[in-house]
Amino acid sequence: MADVRRMIPRTDAVLADRRLAEAAHRLGSETVKAAVRQAQEQARAGAIPPEDVTDEAVALLPGTVCRMRPVINATGVVLHTNLGRASLSAAARHAVREASGPTDVELDLHTGTRARRGRTALAALRERVPSAAAVHVVNNGAAALVLPATALAAGREIVISRGEMVEIGDGFRLPELLVSTGARLREVGTTNRTTVADYACAIGPDTAFVLKVHPSNFHITGFTHAADVRELAALGVPVIHDIGSGLLSPHPLLPDEPDAETQLRAGASLVTASGDKLLGGPQCGLLLGKEELVRTVSRHPLARALRVDKLTLAALEATLAGPQTPTAAALSADPAALVHRAQRLASALSAEGIDAQAVDSAATVGGGGAPGVTLPSAALSLPERYAAALRTGPVPVVGRLEAGRCLLDLRAVPPDDDERLATAVRSVTGPAPER
Ligand SMILES: *Cc1c(COP(=O)(O)O)cnc(C)c1O
Repeated sequence: MADVRRMIPRTDAVLADRRLAEAAHRLGSETVKAAVRQAQEQARAGAIPPEDVTDEAVALLPGTVCRMRPVINATGVVLHTNLGRASLSAAARHAVREASGPTDVELDLHTGTRARRGRTALAALRERVPSAAAVHVVNNGAAALVLPATALAAGREIVISRGEMVEIGDGFRLPELLVSTGARLREVGTTNRTTVADYACAIGPDTAFVLKVHPSNFHITGFTHAADVRELAALGVPVIHDIGSGLLSPHPLLPDEPDAETQLRAGASLVTASGDKLLGGPQCGLLLGKEELVRTVSRHPLARALRVDKLTLAALEATLAGPQTPTAAALSADPAALVHRAQRLASALSAEGIDAQAVDSAATVGGGGAPGVTLPSAALSLPERYAAALRTGPVPVVGRLEAGRCLLDLRAVPPDDDERLATAVRSVTGPAPER
């Protein structure tokens, strides 16, 4: 045993290996040293021969220094909160890379003087929403709501329907968020019905604005009524509409989702939304509307704490000005094409002895909006045990369980990823044979 220990190569000798020296540039020397120590440990324990330490250290190197893993979203939920919502377009990914060094985010290259931060992204947003006189971008949809609540309503009242007091997820509730700014909520109406008269009765000298919140993650049906922005705008106080999803103009497949342009035309003073839901961009919060209100909120001290970084601005601009987003592509995917893809995958895999079938499926938009809307889809159906194996495999795939089967729904999977999906399925080995 003592002999073996003496034969274990020293750390600096191992680190001199070309592969490890190169890896240190990519991963940092601490990560590489940790792999070397782990390999030496294994040799000491007798698990590998001493001469294998270097090769083992190379094998132990992580692929990247970031432990957050890219995954394939086969859940059938287009905007999956736990998977980071919208997937960026290739154009937006490229923009993020380009912006990761020094950029002119806040400098006018012609005059050499300071310029409005993110002005090109803001211009792209304005171009997409002609009815917005001014726009501002913050860190997320919640921040887009907190900023006007703080800047316009601290110590005053926000009039809001009892049917629109929404919990957005993970225990976070918009009413509590609004109250945390020092604004008071003046609740009107009932859970299922609120009329414009309810708002009118509540408006007084203390009213800062009327807030409309789109119920983006639930659906109530039956004996219901909600006042719309056009009616509310006639009441003489600013109307702020949190539309949630970030649709900038109407979407033919999602007729019940409010969009920024329509709401501003109907008289909203300010529309707030997320950037990483139906807009299909990076996480951010959008504020669009009247010049004076946007100026007031964007000049409030809190705006500095909520400002976005250059990577977000780059991704947002490329999303707004660039090609169709993966989110839009997933929403508009042709169901027949999805069925065809599922059948191709199923026949290739079942020819290899895997219990794979193509099945019809129902996808949803997800946390990003359009509650209750189902999108016809197709899935690859596999034995249940595949679910965990695929999630923890070299290319993690997240599917969903249904009736004792693991379904890989193709609606949110870009067609270019079908081959990676098939490879991931093939890499699952287990209690064979299945048939
Ligand atoms: C999603 C959502 C929010 C919160 O937006 P984030 O970007 O998640 O901070 C607020 N309001 C509504 C109506 C939403 O749908």
